[in-house]
Amino acid sequence: MVHIADVLARRHVPAAGLFLSLTRRCPLSCAHCSTNSTIRSEEHAAAPFVRLVESFTPQSRPEFVFLTGGEALLRLSTVRRIARVARERGSRTVLITGLFFARARGTVPARLAEVLRTVDHVVVSHDRFHAPEVPRAHALDVVAELLGLGVDTSFQLVADGPDDRYIAETVAEIRARFGDRVPALVAPLGAAGRGAALLDAVELIDTLQPGVRPGGPPPPSGPPAPVAASAPAAAAPAPCAMAAWPTVAYDGTVVACCSQDVVDGPAPEHLVLGHAARDPWSLIAERCAESPTLRAIRTYGPELLTDRFAPGCASGGYCTSCLRIGGRPEVLRGAEQLVREPVFLATEALVVLAQTAAGPEAFARRYGVPEYAGLLTLGRPGGTDREPVGEAG
Ligand code: SF4
Repeated sequence: MVHIADVLARRHVPAAGLFLSLTRRCPLSCAHCSTNSTIRSEEHAAAPFVRLVESFTPQSRPEFVFLTGGEALLRLSTVRRIARVARERGSRTVLITGLFFARARGTVPARLAEVLRTVDHVVVSHDRFHAPEVPRAHALDVVAELLGLGVDTSFQLVADGPDDRYIAETVAEIRARFGDRVPALVAPLGAAGRGAALLDAVELIDTLQPGVRPGGPPPPSGPPAPVAASAPAAAAPAPCAMAAWPTVAYDGTVVACCSQDVVDGPAPEHLVLGHAARDPWSLIAERCAESPTLRAIRTYGPELLTDRFAPGCASGGYCTSCLRIGGRPEVLRGAEQLVREPVFLATEALVVLAQTAAGPEAFARRYGVPEYAGLLTLGRPGGTDREPVGEAG
């Protein structure tokens, strides 16, 4: 059993997780789809995904393997095999599904139920775009059935914002039906993995739990110490936690973040970690953890990094700045220089510590709709010591 809050509590830790985009295909035709999936979308050989998981060892493995698509359940035998091997090596699996099999009301088909019981957590995706395809009542019935089968389950809901009435009604129904036992992450429409929802590092430090700051390394005060004779950086620090977990794209290319632009490719070289058909997990994890550019992006964010070594060039937005770093050799060289500075090591450690101390609700506030962040820890053993869940809509 795995609670989704415990998964997302590790989202900022390099190589603590791995996303596998098993297929872009999906039988549903939702009006909004972040992966642009259809039943005719691309699907490549399963062997590279399986091979990468088979390269895990008890000593070198991600804590969590996130199976996603498209609709991951279109590859039942692959899901079953990956879940089995991952568990043997000590990893837990999380699968996200749009419940294509619940368009008509009824029980979960036996073959699907058997596979869903092999993973450690199931995330059910639902929003007003899914609703015409899979009615909310059907989705709640499936979750009730999965809970009855002993499968840990949560919702991922996509909202227009805190005033999205459909999501407010959905949340109220979920809470009433499941008695606050089922958590949910409410994500903003179209903002997954995007910098718009990021807090800057100053806000991040402000979320430190009492007692962490005094005992930890000194917090960064403003931009990092100068390592090049350039104009002061104009951008604020804004660490990117999305650069922490490798993602295997549909074709087996392993990239450093799950942003759809990066997954769709071609990804710039500084965001490519290898290929699942060729590289073992130990190498992917090492590249993820050690890449100077990724370390700098995770610690300061792409805009500050660009501003420092190519002043005035961090235009176009957070992720656009990141994607353009590959074409700026002075920034790539600067990142290599930056990570050798003692102050960087201290700041890098502090940023990880701050995010760990802030906990999974802080993640939900940064990357989700903040008013609903408290839903993430519903049903979590030990609960949360934060304020009660906000009501929106
Ligand atoms: S493109 Fe870069 S900045 Fe954007 S989410 Fe990915 S790693 Fe982070």
